[in-house]
Amino acid sequence: MAAKREPGRTPMELSDRFLKTRFAPYWFDTVSQPDEHAPLTDTVDADLAVIGGGFTGLWAALKARERWPQARIVLLEARLCGNAASGRNGGFCAPSISHGVSNAVARWPMETDSLVRLGRQNLDELEADLEAYGIDCEFERQGKLNLAATPWQKDGLKAMQAAYARFGIETEYLEGQALAERFDSPKYGAGLFEPNYGLVNPSRLVAGLRDACLARGVSIYEQTPVTALDRHGDVLRLTTPKGSVEARQVVVATNAAVPLLRRLRQAIIPIFDYTLVTQPLNEAQLAAIGWLGRYGIADTGNQFHYFRKTADNRILWGGFDAIYHYGSRRDASLLDRAETYRRLERNFVEAFPSLSGVSFSHAWGGIIDTSARLTFFSGTGYRGQLAYALGFTGQGVTASRFAALCMLDMLEGKETERTTLRMLRSRAVPFPPEPFRSLAVRWAQADLAREDRTGHRSLFLKGLDWLGIGFGS
Ligand SMILES: Cc1cc2nc3c(=O)[nH]c(=O)nc-3n(C[C@H](O)[C@H](O)[C@H](O)COP(=O)(O)OP(=O)(O)OC[C@H]3O[C@@H](n4cnc5c(N)ncnc54)[C@H](O)[C@@H]3O)c2cc1C
Repeated sequence: MAAKREPGRTPMELSDRFLKTRFAPYWFDTVSQPDEHAPLTDTVDADLAVIGGGFTGLWAALKARERWPQARIVLLEARLCGNAASGRNGGFCAPSISHGVSNAVARWPMETDSLVRLGRQNLDELEADLEAYGIDCEFERQGKLNLAATPWQKDGLKAMQAAYARFGIETEYLEGQALAERFDSPKYGAGLFEPNYGLVNPSRLVAGLRDACLARGVSIYEQTPVTALDRHGDVLRLTTPKGSVEARQVVVATNAAVPLLRRLRQAIIPIFDYTLVTQPLNEAQLAAIGWLGRYGIADTGNQFHYFRKTADNRILWGGFDAIYHYGSRRDASLLDRAETYRRLERNFVEAFPSLSGVSFSHAWGGIIDTSARLTFFSGTGYRGQLAYALGFTGQGVTASRFAALCMLDMLEGKETERTTLRMLRSRAVPFPPEPFRSLAVRWAQADLAREDRTGHRSLFLKGLDWLGIGFGS
């Protein structure tokens, strides 16, 4: 029997497991609704204006306050802080700023040592910041288990272990009973455990950063989209529907939205990623799948699932489908997708047959700002008065903090280890215009799915590798 659900305007035919589902991020229900900050209705002056109230913008505002105690800092958010990717993600906290070690090796081999070190340092510092600012966001650093479902993915895990070892990253390879003691599923035959990985409740992190900003005199205006950006004498003028800001310096942290700087419009594409969360599970249910620890888990397919426990022991099950819509559509109506929810449900039951009676309390989608280099890029505009960082792809929870620091370094005109990284200085490869964009994405996705089934990488994908163009989520 199918249940009819109507999230927004789209009726969805879904199974009984979705009878009581709320089609909104689970994380939103874990924070008390903060007071909404009134939209900007005036013209205000600022030393620094930050556009975007996700992790990147909030870290930028908070770290700017540390550097410039007297500065007038305003943050402008089109909707509510954390409404976009920062409130919709899996909360995996990578010790990486480069979307993992292999992405660093493939693109910036000469500086992988530095990227790995800076990534680990960023996670350490993020943890220290949470402590210093008293941000309770259920941060836990319990590691991550990477899983293989096929013989070629097993080989991939061994290669990953060898690559990690070259950079002094500790891991543990698991098969048979050793794997079953960490995670027991008929679908996966091997695992690689990396102890240095964290998890966070993303909405609580947003709330904590927002409170820390407000407590330090950052002015936050919500429901305030910046619609135009131009020079006005010595300052940059940000136009919003009911007011404007004249700012000496500007940080742009708008992630997957259409970039305000025209020249960045081809550098990212919006990829939709979806998530289910189960009802809370009891100890017996978790014991049946051998998942007693609190580490996060992901498989290593090109189309991969990431999954983790929430504080109240629900399973968050996300990923696999990475949906691109012709013309880089970003409509809110696309944030629910019945076809993907059904696929996630099927894959969940396959991975956890003993949990087939479990229902889903939440389901939602989010937009990933995919760049062809799979990690963020950053730069300046308006003669160094503006800095931007975007393109995090699916790994921005921790990298956003590092990107915020890079932007502030650039605005200060400072040469730091961060700003001299090749990763920072190299440009993002643009995506082709339509219709080639859709054709290329569809072709790459079909070949990536085929590689998952067969273990063979197509000539097309090898060509993209050679050109340094990645496609992922
Ligand atoms: C489903 C999903 C799962 C993910 N899982 C993980 C994960 O487990 N681990 C991980 O590391 N990363 C993950 N990510 C990626 C991560 O969430 C993002 O990289 C990160 O949140 C980016 O933060 P941000 O502040 O740059 O962007 P956002 O959170 O998207 O914030 C940008 C903000 O800018 C605002 N804005 C846009 N345009 C304007 C404008 N013109 N004027 C004013 N405001 C504007 C938007 O409303 C938005 O609030 C995931 C992403 C998604 C979508």
